Parts: sequence; C-alpha cells; structure tokens
Amino acid sequence: MIGIVIVAHSQKLAEGVKELAEQMSQGRVPIVAAGGLDDTTIGTNMERILSAINAVYQPDGVLVLMDLGSAVMSAEMAIETLSPEQQAKVLLSPAPLVEGAIAAAVEAAIGNSLAEVNAAACAVVNMPKVAGVAALSPEQEISTVPTAEAPSSNEITLTLINKSGLHARPAALFVQTAGSFQSTITVRNLSRNTTPVSAKSMFGVLGLGAQQNHRIAIAAEGPDAAEVLAVLRQLAGDGFGEMEQTPVAPAKEFAGPPLQETRVIPRSFVESAPHLVARGRMRKFQGVAASAGIAIGPAYLYRPLTLNAPQRKVEDPEAEWVRFTAAVEKAKAQIKATRDKAVTQVGRAAAEIFTAHLLFLEDPGLLDQMRVQITKEGLNAEAALAKAVAGYADVLRNMDDDLFRQRAADVEDVGQRVLRILRGISDRSLAELPEPAVLVARDLAPSDTFRLEKERVLGFCTAAGGVTSHTAILASSLGLPAVVGLGEKALDIPDGTPLIIDGEAGVVVVNPDEEILAAYRVRRESLVARQVAARQAGQGPALTRDGHRVEVAANVADVASTHAALEYGAEGIGLLRTEFLYLDRPTMPSEEEQVAAYQAIAEVMDQRPVIIRTLDIGGDKPAPYFAIGQELNPFLGWRAIRLCLGQPDMFKIQLRAILRSGYKRNVKIMFPMIATLQELLQAKALLREARDELAAEGLPHAEDPEVGIMVEVPAAAIAADVLAQEADFFSIGTNDLIQYTLACDRTNERVAFLYQPLHPAVLRLIRGVIDAAHVAGRWVGMCGEMAGQEEAVPILLGLGLDEFSMTSSAIPTVKRIIRSLSLTEAREIADRALRLSTTEEIQVYVKEVLQRLAGEEEKNEEGFGTTG
Ligand code: PEP
Ligand code: MG
Repeated sequence: MIGIVIVAHSQKLAEGVKELAEQMSQGRVPIVAAGGLDDTTIGTNMERILSAINAVYQPDGVLVLMDLGSAVMSAEMAIETLSPEQQAKVLLSPAPLVEGAIAAAVEAAIGNSLAEVNAAACAVVNMPKVAGVAALSPEQEISTVPTAEAPSSNEITLTLINKSGLHARPAALFVQTAGSFQSTITVRNLSRNTTPVSAKSMFGVLGLGAQQNHRIAIAAEGPDAAEVLAVLRQLAGDGFGEMEQTPVAPAKEFAGPPLQETRVIPRSFVESAPHLVARGRMRKFQGVAASAGIAIGPAYLYRPLTLNAPQRKVEDPEAEWVRFTAAVEKAKAQIKATRDKAVTQVGRAAAEIFTAHLLFLEDPGLLDQMRVQITKEGLNAEAALAKAVAGYADVLRNMDDDLFRQRAADVEDVGQRVLRILRGISDRSLAELPEPAVLVARDLAPSDTFRLEKERVLGFCTAAGGVTSHTAILASSLGLPAVVGLGEKALDIPDGTPLIIDGEAGVVVVNPDEEILAAYRVRRESLVARQVAARQAGQGPALTRDGHRVEVAANVADVASTHAALEYGAEGIGLLRTEFLYLDRPTMPSEEEQVAAYQAIAEVMDQRPVIIRTLDIGGDKPAPYFAIGQELNPFLGWRAIRLCLGQPDMFKIQLRAILRSGYKRNVKIMFPMIATLQELLQAKALLREARDELAAEGLPHAEDPEVGIMVEVPAAAIAADVLAQEADFFSIGTNDLIQYTLACDRTNERVAFLYQPLHPAVLRLIRGVIDAAHVAGRWVGMCGEMAGQEEAVPILLGLGLDEFSMTSSAIPTVKRIIRSLSLTEAREIADRALRLSTTEEIQVYVKEVLQRLAGEEEKNEEGFGTTG
C-alpha cells in the first residue's frame, strides 16, 4: 500500500481534496494534507510537506500531488532532505490535484504499485471533464490549444545510492532501459549542474560523471513517460543491482583467494625490509593491489598494436558509410562472442562490461557524428572514428572521478577493435606467450584480459589503471595476481627480467635477489598450502564412523562459484540458482545464452551431479521485464513456479536450455516453490513438450533426467507422500520453509528472532519429508542454508538426510562433523532433539554435542601424536 500527500497553497483546499480522496478510498489509504504556509496563510511550506511525507511513508512508496508553482519546488526541497532510500520511493506526480488525487486514492486502495497509481492519476488528464471537451494540461490551458492526445511530460529527481553511480554497468542498464521506451528521455546531473543529455546515449550518460550521492533529474516526454520514469526510479532505488553484489572469490593456482571471510592485507616482505630494496639490481615498484596472490616469473612486455588512422577524403561517401556500418556490425558480433565467453568464465556480472562496449557502438551521438563526418564531410571512416573516440575518451579522462576516467580505456578498446576491422588486421592474440610469464603492459583492455591464456600468464602488472578498472575486476575473477597503476616506469622493464607480483600489497619486485625470492617463494607456498589444506579437508567422501555415506554438495550461481565448489570438496551441485542469468538486466536471456551458461557449469563438474533449479524469481528477486508489479506479500505472491507456469512460452525456453545442457551430462532438474501436485504435473508436462520439440528439431538433449522439487512450502512438506509419487527427489529449501512455517519474512529484521532453523516445528516437518520420501524410495537433499549450519548437521544426519548442499566454504567443516559421528549416534541425537520442546533447548543440547565431538577429535589427534 502506498501513501498519498496532498500539497496545495491553502490548507483548507488540501484538506478538502484529502476528504474527497478518502471518501473514494473508503479510508483505506493513508493520506495527509500539507497545505499553506501554515493553517491560515496561503503558500507552501517545505517542512509541512516533509512531515506529511514522513507521516504517510510506506515501504511501497509515497505519491505527492501538488497544485501549482512553488508547490513543486517546496515538495522537491522536502524530498532532498529524505534519506536516499526514502527518496527513491517518493514520487512527485505531475497529475492534476483534484482529479489526480481521486484516481490515485482509488488505485492505491486496491493495492496497486506507486508507478501504477501515478499512471492512473496522470491518465485523468485525457479524460473529458465536460462531454466532448478534453481536459487540458496547465500549459495548454494557458495557450488554449485543446488536444485529447497531449503527451504526458514530467521530470523526476533522485539521488544515486549505488556505489559506482552511473558508470559503465549501471549506465548500460540505465541506457538500455531508457532505450526500450518510446518517450524522449533526457537526464542531467544536478550535482554538477550539467546540461541534459539523451538517456538513450551511453556516451551522454557516462559524460554526466554521475557518482554516488549525486542528484540527477530525468525528464521524459511521450506516451510512456510516466512508466519510464517509474521504472528508472525503481532501477536507481534498487542501486542498479549493485547493492547486493557479493564479489566472487577467485581461486587460482597462484592467486590465493582469502579463505577466511575477513581479508587481511599483509605488509609485503619488501616493505618490511626496505634495506633489501636498494641492494644489487633489485627494484621495487609500488602500485595498486588489484587481484590477490603471488606470481613469480619472467616479464613479458605486451605492446599491443595501437593503430593510427591517417585522414583522407573519400570519393564515395555513401560507400564509406556502408563500409563503416559493416565494420561496426562485425565488431558487435565479436564483442557478443567475447561476452558469451566471459559469462561462462567469470559470471554475468563481471562480463557485463562488454554490454557497455556494445552500447558504445550503438550510441546515437557517436553514429550521428560519424554519419556527418563521413557522408557530409567526405572523411574516411578510420579518421572519423579515431576523432570521435579520442573526443569521448578525453571527456572521460578529464573527469575527476577515477571510476569514470577508467572508462576511457573501454572506449578506446572498442575504437581499436573497429579500426582493426576497417584495416583488415586480425585480432592479435595474447595466447602467443612463449612461456609462463608475468605480463607487463601499459594497460590491458578488458578484451585483452579475456584473451589471456591462463596457463601461460602467471599474473600481470600495468602502468595505468586503478583498482576499479574492469581489467582489475576481471583479473580477480580469473584468479590472476595483479598490480595496476605502476606508472610509466614499469614499461622500462626489459623482457625476460625476473619479477614478483605481490597482488596483496600492490608491489612489484624487479630483479629480486635470492633472499627476497626465497622469502616470496615461502610465502607463495604457504598461501598455496593454506588453500590446499582447506581443500584437502573438504575432499573425499563424507562417511560416518560406521560407514554411512551422504553426499555433500554446493550451491552455486555461476562458473566461478562452481570452480570454488570443487576446490572446497563439493561432490556435486545441489542447487544451481539460475536467477543469476535473469536478474539485473533489461531483457531475458536467450535459449542459446542459457545453454552456454549451464553447459559451462556442468562441464566444470564433469560427470558429478548438477541440479539445475528452474527460475525462482519474484519474492525478493524481481526482474524488470517480468512486470510482477507491486505485491502486498511478495513472498506469498507471484514467484518461482507460479510465475513460470503463468508464462509457459518463457518457461519452455529455460526447460529446453536445461535439457540441451544436460546432453551426456549428469544434469537434474528441480522446480522451486511447489505447493500442489497440480503444479508439479503441469511443470512436468511442459518439460515433456520441451523434450518433444527438441527431438523433432533434432537437437541433442538429455532424454530422461531426474526431475525433483524443492520442498520449501509447508503444504509440500506435509503432503510429501503425495508429491513423492511424481518427484524423483526432494531438496528441502529451509530458507523459505522456515519463513513460511514460522510466518516470518526472511528479509525483515524485526521478525528475525523468529527465524529458527532448529524450531521443533521445522524439525518435525523435515523429519516428515525425509520419512515420506524414503517410504516412496526417493532420496532427499537439503539446499537451504541450514544444511551447512554446524548445529543442524548431527540432527539432519540422524534424520536420514541423503544430500547436504551448501555454500562451498562450509563444506570442509560439515564433512568433518559427519566423519566424527556414527549414524547410530546421529540417530540418537536427532531422536533426543526432536523430543525437546523449544528451540533454545535444542540449541543448548546440540552445542553440547558439538563440543563433545570437538574434544574427542582433539584427544584423537593427541593420541596420534604420542603414539605415532
Ligand atoms: C531455500 O528456500 O532454502 C532455497 C535454497 O532457495 P532460495 O534461498 O533461493 O529461495
Ligand atoms: Mg527458496
């Protein structure tokens, strides 16, 4: 439910409108009047408006309706004082006050979203007030030009709350979203006082230099103006998807990813022993730590071909334009291919830089400039392009924010790609490295980083760049130790010189002497040893002391997390959250894109089982293109299987992709949020249709994969015996099961105390599910967080859980607990725990059990020490 604020120059007027609107909504919508300078004086008062907004503030948002002139200004000022989170949820409506308030109140009363309520309020402009005469917008009333088709035009201001403002990826999302609407949309940076630029131009938007906490104003004019503003506001309010991103931990041979959550930046050996630096020919360069780990090897100076573009006049400008557009198309195809490769190697978020590259080449400003220079001025395509690229790169390079300056390299990267195509020069490959080496370069463009042959590149350092450059981000996704920002002197390092890259301290040691080399070797070994020890503990089967085996698997979202899963000892993937491909983008992934992504993950796992969960979107995971709308209870709403069964065509694309990726691989399919047998039967019917289609088209696919369901709705847990007739396996989704069982929203801090995995009711449900499945001859896994929680493991083991799937880093500990118990002992623990009455009692009991187990383990180790 949203709240409504009525702003008018007179408190009486505001009260009157409020009364009318309340009558229409039968008092169900919170509405507050904020009129006059005070109760009796005509005017508007920012403070009165602010307290009205606070009084009706709702998480779903607040719509502010105003009368004239200064009302808008006062309301804008009031919004400025709100927190960024609140600002993102307060919308100033351009709707007429009285009719708009009535329409808004009616729409709000039925629970519509802020955007929908605003759209309804704005729509009254087009409704005839007197039969046959269209209602007029204020400007039209002045100019007395009546029209029934007046486009709505308005502007919103908002604060950028995401960390990187409108730089490459958020800017790409912004531009793509704006581009999907018909309206003319402009955006300006109020904090920098810039002029408006087209919101559909990547260069324009980047050129605003809009950083975190900057205020921007977005104006839209056209038939879908209200919608686009609402969508862009929502996008910004969600921080362009940047608010919840967790960095992917790199885990590569020399790049020791921190195994603990806390990241300790050790002082480098060189820093702690400065006297060594001056010794002999050894030199030390301090740069910026860009990707952790230590690399030791000979330098390879990478000098990419920088093409220049001599200017000439062309005889046939139209033919030149065609030549240019063909080169652009070819470049776009190359970038798309690189992006697909990147998605499978480092995940979609990191690969998104290539979407920004595509947008550069689609930028209307760039294309207009090129067309003028080529067709009007008769310039050759190479020179025109070089000029345009230099101009855009200069603008970016002169910005005062590092994040934006870094984008200059991206623009030049794209420019060089098109130039290479125009000149018919093939893509020089970095795979030409003669031996494993440390790459030294002025800068590496993101596409260069992707061409690195990982077997032969031990790490890299660059003269330019900062820690926020995509090159650095990609390096860390690839797990390559890297130091950037060393300055031009780094380029004097001769080929073949011995180098050490200390990716944690941001140090490069040139010509290290034996002492330093030895110290770094020790450290590299200890880093690797630390990793190996943790990995080893996680390797091998999870066997209880009396020989009962359970499977310990990982929950993953992309290729990088799948590599980490294997390293921690995952025996399979118990949950692949396919949402990673769907979220934070303006359009749906194609079937091919999905096949590539799922296949890449399955390939990493070889023939180990990979359970691919179909799309679980909705709830706390919205995707803009599904238009789920505002729901009063999103977790009880249109999410997961409900949404997929409601859009069978879209769903079938995913089912086809999963089946295709499962060809000759151990892929299983799992449906989320199943509550009824009917849903499972419908989903299976669609799966059969997808399989028949693929067979008819002759596309290779998995013939008969196991089909399971997530048990995360209490209805499914209670009726597990019924569902077991149709499901090949169950995976208990405790994250949701707990919230639904205890009726506590898993995202709501206030009810977090009720979120109790060890609650007797939850344990009883789990026991029921496992028993019902076993009676029907099905196996049961768990992919909710609870499977990786130490206190839960002995009980789950004792209840007979067959598979535990969790965040990779929890695997070694869980395997250790399983190995320390016998099944008989675990059964007794479960039995006793389930006879206790409260969560607290169960917790105390299991803690005692864990302490005892740890004590016994210690004793055993000591025993080995003295006897062995
Ligand atoms: C769960 O609900 O336990 C689960 C694993 O699914 P998600 O956390 O993705 O909702
Ligand atoms: Mg769930």
